[in-house]
Amino acid sequence: MNIMLFVAITAIIIFGVPLAWTMTVAAIALALYLSFQLLNPNLEPGNAVAATLFFASGIVATVVARRTMTILAQKTFLLELRDRSRVAELADANARLERLARTDPLTGIANRRWMMETLNRLWSGGLNCRGCAMLMCDIDEFKKLNDHLGHAEGDRCLVKVAGIIQSSVNGERDHVARYGGEEFLVVLPGADEREAIATAERIRKSVEAASLPNPASRVGPYVTLSIGVANQPPDKEFISPEQLQNAADAALYLAKQAGRNCVSLHQPGEAGT
Ligand code: GH3
Ligand code: MG
Ligand code: MG
Repeated sequence: MNIMLFVAITAIIIFGVPLAWTMTVAAIALALYLSFQLLNPNLEPGNAVAATLFFASGIVATVVARRTMTILAQKTFLLELRDRSRVAELADANARLERLARTDPLTGIANRRWMMETLNRLWSGGLNCRGCAMLMCDIDEFKKLNDHLGHAEGDRCLVKVAGIIQSSVNGERDHVARYGGEEFLVVLPGADEREAIATAERIRKSVEAASLPNPASRVGPYVTLSIGVANQPPDKEFISPEQLQNAADAALYLAKQAGRNCVSLHQPGEAGT
């Protein structure tokens, strides 16, 4: 009987029954134990009380051990939760920083650093079976816009032109970045010469159609864009991204010389390659 009581009370304590219930059951068990001891004719009452006290101290020790284990487990659980939320916060902050480092703060489109990474990725990722085209876009007479309408208006113009270029390309495939002050680089993976020129013309016409004022421009009263196009066909010897950029730059120079607000295609053999 004593052993049964002991096993039952230990099981109740160990299996995490709520403390109030544990105390109630322990008190009942101790009362039962004491009555059995007192009813035992072979035991002195003093010895019966002493045995009950011994049983009680065993119960108290088991309860304390069980409570300590529960508190430690809860503490470990809370610490784990805190660590997990800190790791998530850190990953979030890193992702935000990474996004900021790749974004041009004025226009919100990608910056030059991101474009360099993208070009390296494209070139090392088997671009040779598709070819690639680059458009170097430069706002005409932008200095005059700044001088006549103010730097803030110049900034607003950059934001609008960036948006127009971005919305004139295939967002799934093409890449646009602010390359410098009023220059934007567009990369068209897989595009051939015909498609590259068509895209450049679409961008140029969209900027012109937006009628953003540039009253002192020698080209016309509105903001215009000159675009240099360079193409890397998949069946020609591959040049580096820097060489293709130089070719697009050389074509842009020709577009400026041709009177601005136009698209010029780089011809192999010209300066830049
Ligand atoms: P071109 O037709 O030959 O390209 O003439 P341009 O005036 O556009 O070219 P130029 O290189 O002479 O001037 C570029 C101007 O762009 C000069 C610079 O003050 C301005 N610029 C560069 N970055 C920013 C910017 O972030 N905001 C504003 N508002 N202006 C900028
Ligand atoms: Mg420029
Ligand atoms: Mg310019």
